Amino acid sequence: MSVVVKHAMTVDVEDYFHVSAFENKITSTDWASLPLRVEKNTHRLLELFEQHDAKCTFFTLGWVAEHCPNLIKAIVDRGHELASHGYDHKRVVSMNPKQFREDVIKSKSLLEDAGGCEIVGYRAPSFSFNTNNQWAYEILVEFGFTYSSSTYPIEHDLYGVPDWPRFIHKRDEGIFEIPIPTIRDGEVNKGIGGGGYFRLYPYFYSKQRIEKYLQQESAPYSFYFHPWEIDPEQPKISGVPLKSKVRHYINLSRMEDKIVKLLKDYQWSTMQDVYLSGSSQEEK
Ligand SMILES: [Zn+2]
Repeated sequence: MSVVVKHAMTVDVEDYFHVSAFENKITSTDWASLPLRVEKNTHRLLELFEQHDAKCTFFTLGWVAEHCPNLIKAIVDRGHELASHGYDHKRVVSMNPKQFREDVIKSKSLLEDAGGCEIVGYRAPSFSFNTNNQWAYEILVEFGFTYSSSTYPIEHDLYGVPDWPRFIHKRDEGIFEIPIPTIRDGEVNKGIGGGGYFRLYPYFYSKQRIEKYLQQESAPYSFYFHPWEIDPEQPKISGVPLKSKVRHYINLSRMEDKIVKLLKDYQWSTMQDVYLSGSSQEEK
């Protein structure tokens, strides 16, 4: 009898033009006129997850629910967890409490209407929770959210609070925060949760780091990525700084193969199942 540990697979459902790195180049008024890729790419992910018997939490923009209600239905119908990634990818650092409240209400109701289910999970765009906006947790609790996965305890130029907790914890507001996983490298936390790092490094190296985490910590692992990361054919945005360009476009053509390897090498389920239902371990 062996014990199978499940880890949490998560996808932040946004299109290539929603990403924070392009926010100075493309405004929300441009979005409706740009070719939509998120629907097709997310359907591809649904297929891959089905083939490998994986369940996933889809942290989805309210904007996507508004424009692709059938996609939302498909996510729910296939047994995945639908959760919120805000309405239009505005980072929480750029909002006041009133604006955040409006964003939470709008995105939650769009997702619930399209999915026909209750939304209890939230992930801030670009992990934009920090020491200045912790009021956001109280607003999430007010609207029925039971968990957030909005913090990345690393040093990074765009996000992260390096000295914040590294593991799931219940906050005083009564909500769980589930940080993106890190490994300790001396005194420093290194991100191993997915995204750009996973595209940049060869698969064997990412797997080594995941294995190191699993050996060192008695906590489940969680992984995040985006539908646009498996889409090398996406329209290229011109005039963006080189650093953002490299981060966004590097190794897109290899991502799908890497995701398949990850799906084969580990067992995956939703955030709720892995972290909150107490069924992360299943006897076989
Ligand atoms: Zn995002």
